[in-house]
Amino acid sequence: MSHVYGAAMTKFTVLLSSRVRDHRYVARRPSNQPRRGHSRNPSPETSFKQSFCIRWLNARSEPVRSDRMAKLYFHYSTMNAGKSTLLLQAAHNYQEMGMETFLLTADFDDRAGEGKIGSRIGFAKKATTYRKEDDLFALIAQRTKVGAVACVMVDEAQWLSSEQVWQLARAADDLNVPVMCYGLRVDFKGELFPGSATLLALADDLREVRTICHCGRKATMVIRKGEDGKAVTDGAQVVVGGNETYLSLCRRHWREATGN
Ligand SMILES: [Zn+2]
Repeated sequence: MSHVYGAAMTKFTVLLSSRVRDHRYVARRPSNQPRRGHSRNPSPETSFKQSFCIRWLNARSEPVRSDRMAKLYFHYSTMNAGKSTLLLQAAHNYQEMGMETFLLTADFDDRAGEGKIGSRIGFAKKATTYRKEDDLFALIAQRTKVGAVACVMVDEAQWLSSEQVWQLARAADDLNVPVMCYGLRVDFKGELFPGSATLLALADDLREVRTICHCGRKATMVIRKGEDGKAVTDGAQVVVGGNETYLSLCRRHWREATGN
């Protein structure tokens, strides 16, 4: 019986002492500071309690799910990881549910035929092409007037201009349509593409599409191979080539191949 009493007393003492500490904190707080603001020297316990209360209040004031705003997504990876395949699969899933998607791809990518998104495993779908000078917000706004669009999907997103990424962000915010971009993170020199840099900065949701190097590690880099089969370290960022001219590697093997 005594251990029950002892436990109850301990609990009571803890409760009491925490209240006393609270009281002391309130007494020390300068009168010109708001009650839930940060004290100059908050005790660890008090700041934890404060942050807990603030988080609880914030959680309660979050909008309900149906009011959620559409997001801008960036699915990034190195070459040949299956980004286009993922895009086409996602578009197919929407289609199966009776929902329309709006597919966009870069104008100068004619590997799968003009106005098409193709994957290495053989699937392809028709897509609207965009050029460097196109206003993608206007393009999407125009498309949504024709009929409801459940999702906008952009392939080869590394070739978007920084301005176009902002236009896509505005489409997500102001037209409330989710925009999913798929693209490469870095070029063969190990530098960010302008479109990818802006997407990494602005996207609400970043998702890595993984592939592996010949050593089994995750491949994050890509080399461009010259005619002699050796890695090219100079040249234009934008060259549309076949699979044989690019190879995805882990950083270590990329450094070995490029002499970096
Ligand atoms: Zn490797």
